[in-house]
Amino acid sequence: MLDRYGRSINYMRISITDRCNLRCRYCMPDGIPWVPMEEILTYEELEMLAREAAGIGIRRIKVTGGEPLVRRGCPSFVGMLKRVPGIEQVTLTTNGVYLADYAEELKENGLDAVNVSLDTLNPQRFFEITGRDALGRVLDGLDAALQYQIPLKINAVLQKGRNEEEWPELASLARERRLDVRFIEMMPIGHGRNYESIANEEILRQLEMQYGPLARDNRVHGNGPAVYYRVPGYQGSIGFISAMHGKFCEYCNRIRVTSTGDIKSCLCFEDRISVRDALRAKDTQEVRNLLDLAIRNKPAAHRFEETDMVTEQQEMSSIGG
Ligand code: SAM
Ligand code: SF4
Repeated sequence: MLDRYGRSINYMRISITDRCNLRCRYCMPDGIPWVPMEEILTYEELEMLAREAAGIGIRRIKVTGGEPLVRRGCPSFVGMLKRVPGIEQVTLTTNGVYLADYAEELKENGLDAVNVSLDTLNPQRFFEITGRDALGRVLDGLDAALQYQIPLKINAVLQKGRNEEEWPELASLARERRLDVRFIEMMPIGHGRNYESIANEEILRQLEMQYGPLARDNRVHGNGPAVYYRVPGYQGSIGFISAMHGKFCEYCNRIRVTSTGDIKSCLCFEDRISVRDALRAKDTQEVRNLLDLAIRNKPAAHRFEETDMVTEQQEMSSIGG
């Protein structure tokens, strides 16, 4: 379906839980209350939503959270989504802690690709950033995804004064392994407001100082706004998602659904349309009307660069990234 600016909206991110087993300082530090379980949509309700979304042109779904793998039955839910007529691709975003445990089951259920969020390769720094001592498990998760041949991307968010110097080590994962590494600029959502965003242009500039001008990699690599480059000698590509320093809203193709059934058409603004009552009433026509309304009301662009204009007050963990 086209929105009123002519953008084709074909991608939906579904958050299946607001809970998480890590406590990333910019996303879900300690002390964030969790939503009661009865307010969280069931997998059957989410599947109904996916069917109606497919009916108006959604083709690709990302399962996210919180941490999606802490919700029991996540791999089977991937299988449910894969069987929805019209849905062509189902992918997952995870912190990777449980990926080694579930990679085989995810593969069996048809998962098309996985993104693992990983901001550092230093165990102490991992603890400082995430509040947990789990780097080894995440690295095992990367190995498991590769072992089961699930296409893999690493998502890294750099923080000034904490891990910004580590980008060359993170990037070199794409040299050593068959995976892409993407750098995501910190956005002023939730506790992310307390951090300064590092410009991806600067990383690209330094990469090009080392390797010379890099060729753009225009093969389709994912669902959205990342710009990819080939680096000589690397197995995978390096991608940049530059929400702050490279506005990509004119190409935005997505809507988001929170675990409680709020449809969000832009990350920046608090506006939501709740589809939960319609799902619980099994009113499929109303579900479709609400999806349609959310897409038609999708704003032209975010306004992250003007902090006062960012009206979203919730944490990224409750929205799904
Ligand atoms: N737990 C899963 C994970 O970590 O991949 C899925 C949910 S998490 C909210 C999705 C992504 O959002 C992660 O890559 C995380 O680094 C990113 N994220 C969280 N807060 C952010 C912020 N303020 N700016 C940019 N990215 C953010
Ligand atoms: Fe959890 Fe992902 Fe947020 Fe980290 S970024 S706290 S892993 S939801």
